[in-house]
Parts: sequence; structure tokens; C-alpha cells
Amino acid sequence: MTRIAIVDNEKLRNMQEKLYIQSLCPVNRTGKECIRIDGNGKLTIEEKLCTGCGICPKAAPLAIKIINLPEKLKQKPIHRYGENQFVLYSMPTPLKGRVTGVLGVNGIGKSTALRILAKVLQPNFGDWTTEGRFSDIIPFFKGTEAQKFFEELDKGVITVSYKPQQVELIPKTAKGSVKELLKKVDQRGKLGEVAKELQLDGFLENDIREISGGELQRVAIAAAVLKDASLYIFDEPSSYLDIRQRINISRFIKGLANQDTSVLLVEHDLIILDYMTDLINIMYGREAAYGIVSGVKPTKAGINIYLGGYLKEENVRFRDAAMKFTERPPMESRRREELTSWKSISKKLGRFSLEAKEGTIYRKDIIGVLGENGTGKTTFARMLAHVLTQDGGEITKKITVSYKPQYIESSNETVAEALDHAIQKYAAQLITPLKIEPLLESRLSQLSGGELQRVAIAACLQKDADLYLLDEPSAYLDAEQRLVVSKVVRDFMEQKGATAMVVDHDLLFIDYVATKIMVVDGTPAVKGEVHAPQEMEDGMNHFLGKLQITLRRDHDTKRPRINKEDSYLDREQKGSGKYYYA
Ligand code: SF4
Repeated sequence: MTRIAIVDNEKLRNMQEKLYIQSLCPVNRTGKECIRIDGNGKLTIEEKLCTGCGICPKAAPLAIKIINLPEKLKQKPIHRYGENQFVLYSMPTPLKGRVTGVLGVNGIGKSTALRILAKVLQPNFGDWTTEGRFSDIIPFFKGTEAQKFFEELDKGVITVSYKPQQVELIPKTAKGSVKELLKKVDQRGKLGEVAKELQLDGFLENDIREISGGELQRVAIAAAVLKDASLYIFDEPSSYLDIRQRINISRFIKGLANQDTSVLLVEHDLIILDYMTDLINIMYGREAAYGIVSGVKPTKAGINIYLGGYLKEENVRFRDAAMKFTERPPMESRRREELTSWKSISKKLGRFSLEAKEGTIYRKDIIGVLGENGTGKTTFARMLAHVLTQDGGEITKKITVSYKPQYIESSNETVAEALDHAIQKYAAQLITPLKIEPLLESRLSQLSGGELQRVAIAACLQKDADLYLLDEPSAYLDAEQRLVVSKVVRDFMEQKGATAMVVDHDLLFIDYVATKIMVVDGTPAVKGEVHAPQEMEDGMNHFLGKLQITLRRDHDTKRPRINKEDSYLDREQKGSGKYYYA
């Protein structure tokens, strides 16, 4: 097959539009049925007849994609969801004793590949009318190193344990306390040990429906590792976790790979992916259309290749431009004009108390807010946004605040309605770079997590305000979208002369977007202490020092990387107090 057609019938308005599109097809005009409309009104395209003339996708760009596949792509598909639906070509292959990461944009088939390896999804090898057998995957890898792996997986010599992506769905099907649920899956008899390492002890007796997102994520990881398996698969293990927890689970997951076991994972936090894995498979193709897996690379090279957008061995350019970092992205020097400041702020919420001694926000700053979950970052942000009133102390100037909350509510409104002002005033700054055009006619309730996040960021920035507060804008976004959002926020603040506060747990994202750092210390769910915004270096040193990790810049791409614990650089940077880039 040289090309595939992807059709989203829900985006075709009515029968009249479908008939019109059908009437345009030059192949149909010769009497053949390239574009068909069945008795239920469903429009499909016969890929073998399509010449790729480009007329129908031009007429319905949101609903139809005709994609020419790379010439070298000779293999049959591994899985196709249905006629004119997403196709997956090739699979990542885990190796014993190694942690392998899968890196790619959202909608490229990463979770599909993981679910096939976990045997949760039966591959159909492109024939969606029949259910395939897993063993049919073996001929795909004949003569390659992966052949043995798939044979052993098929025979059950390799056993799999899988942590799914959407941990928020667990309470919908599981009932009981965390401890009861984990006891049921504890085939290795290691519940006590794992609970300690993943810090579950404080909520083991709680009902699964009453724990937070970060707690659910750690319970899901614990459930996966308590099973006796030789391949552990984790789909996005860092979601909902703060940086300390991300580092902790990274060390834990690294420790799982030994001579008998392998680990495979998908992760969008590039610093964590870099820290946690030994090897990388890049996935490329076209979002929501098709996905291909690259050959395996050592992690450092794999991430650098991904940022560069070009696979030399495969001779494939999968992104037009490289994603670049600079040692400290330069911001124009500015007069320090005060926007607002606070003094002796206090707030009590149940048994949790928050304090902010004093601090000042200057115009045009982008303040990255770093701290553990449950230490009051969002509470403080909400007080600045006047959504919440403080018990004591004062916020000096009344400023207007536009706030993107951590949890975004969707509604029946269309994206075009929600972003009316942005479309008219900031199309070039927000709508185009955030790739919102294809979503304009959709309702907010129909969007995926990543799409809704991009729309919510644009909705926050389209308002006129003194301060833009973005609470966890990286959630649900892939690594590429995170860097795009960082650039959009930076450029927007620069052009508008506006000020932003960004609360997030992705260190690379914060490093890229922020010009100042505000650290929030404390004990989760008990006490929070908000420090004044500091210069990048001071703030990062403060925060990283508490975590006892050091960061350096990659020589080739300048991206930040965590130093190996107790390595020469780690010891040297700790010795000189320079936790942030020696
Ligand atoms: Fe017909 Fe294919 Fe042209 Fe569409 S792209 S009009 S299906 S030949």
C-alpha cells in the first residue's frame, strides 16, 4: 500500500456534504467506487483505488486525510482500528536488563503498541474484520534480534505486567481500600517493601475512590510491580506526580530491570525519560493516522535525535525543524517595575496551613513555581487570582488575573466560541502555534486531554490581564507540545509586556519557560511555605538542593539532564553548591 485514507465521519456535517465530496472524486467519475457511502450514511474511501489527487481532503480538511506512506515502508501493518482508521506499523522491543523508553507525539500509536505487548489488545495485522492471533506477529520479526523476544512472549516464557495510562479510571472499576486491592495482586509477597519505597504507607487504609491523582499513580505502579512478571510496562508513569515523586519512581523503575526482567515505558517528561531509561525507540508518522517505530538507540542519542527531527539510519525527517535549547534563553533587559507584592500572608484550610512571608512580582517576569504536591502552590495562586481570600496579611496591589486551573472543566461550547477573542486578536500568537484550527468546530466536551489543555491555555491568554496564572499547563501534553507551549507563553509575554506564573512539575518545561523561580517548601497536606521569587539560578539551586539532584546541559542540544548520582559531576556540583548547571 502506498497511501492510506483516514476519515472521521463525525466531522462531516450531513448527507449533502458527503454526497458532494463523493461527486468530486475523479475515480468515482470514471464509474469506480473509490468514495462509498453505505446504507448507514457512513463515508469510506477505498485506498487501493485512490490516486491521491488531494481533492477530497481539500474539500473536507477536518474530516479526511489522504497520506502518502514513506516509500521504504514495505511491511504490513501490525494493527488497524478499522476501515480508514489509525494504522500501526512495527513494534518497540524491550531488552533484558534494560529500561527502554518510547518517545513520540500524542496520537502516534505508543499506547497501542504497549497494549499489544501487554496482550490487552490483539493485533489484527491490518484486517479489522477478523481477530488476529498474537503468534502471527512472529513472522514480522523473523531473522531479527526481536524474533526470540516475540516467540518467548507468545509462549508465555516472558510474562507481562502493565500499568495503563489512565489511572483516573481505576476507581471506576476497583472497590475497597488501597491495601486490600494491592494484597490481591501481590504475587511476589513484597507489598510492605514496595509500599515503603513508593511512599504509600500514609494512605494504605484509605478507600481507592478517596485518594488523589498522584496517590493513584503510585498505587497503579505498585500494583504492576507486585505481579510476578519478566516484562514490566508503564504507560506514562509520571503523570500527576511532583518532581520529588518523579525522581523517586524513576529510581524505583530503573531498579526493576535485571538479567531476567525488562522494562518498557512511555513518558513525556524528557528529563525523567532521560534519567529513567537506557534505550529509546522513537515513534514517528502522522498524528491520528499512522505510526512507525524506529530502531533502538541509546537514550542520550535517542532524545537528541528526537529533538533534531531526523533519523539518519532510516533517512526519515519526521519534523521540519529541530527543537532547540539555549543555555539561558535570553530575555530583553527590563526596568524592574513592580506589579504586585505580598506580606505576611496566611491561610488555613482544614488541617493544612500556608504562609507567604513576603515577595514581589515584577512586570514581564515569567515565574516558574516549584514545589511538592500538597504544599499549597495552587492555593497561593488562587489567592493572587482573588478566587480565594487570605486569612491574614496583605496583597498590595489589586491586579487583574487570568487563571488556567489545574483541572479543566469542559462544556458543550464549541472551541470557536470559547476562543472568540483569540481568533480575532491573537490568531498568529495562539491559534496557529497551538494547532487549534482543526479543533474550532469541535465541542469542548469532545476534546482529548491534550487538546483541551491547549484550548484552556489559549482561553487564559486571550483575556486582558496583569498576571496570567497557568496551573500545570504541561499535563496531558506530549514532549513536543510542551516545548511549543513554553515558546508560545514566552513570546506572548514578551510581545504583550505581560507577566505570568507557571506552576508545573516538568523541570525541562519550567527551565525553558521561566525567567524567575518561586519555591514552595513544606510538608504535603500539612504545611506550605511560599518563598519570594528568585533569579533562575538561585531558585533552581534552592529547589534542586532540597531534592539532592544536580543538572547539567547536554553538550550537543543544551537540554538539561540530571547527573548520575555520585558521578564526578554530581559530586563536584554538590560540593560547590551549584546544583543548576555548573
Ligand atoms: Fe478520490 Fe482519492 Fe482524490 Fe479523494 S484523494 S478525491 S478519494 S482519488
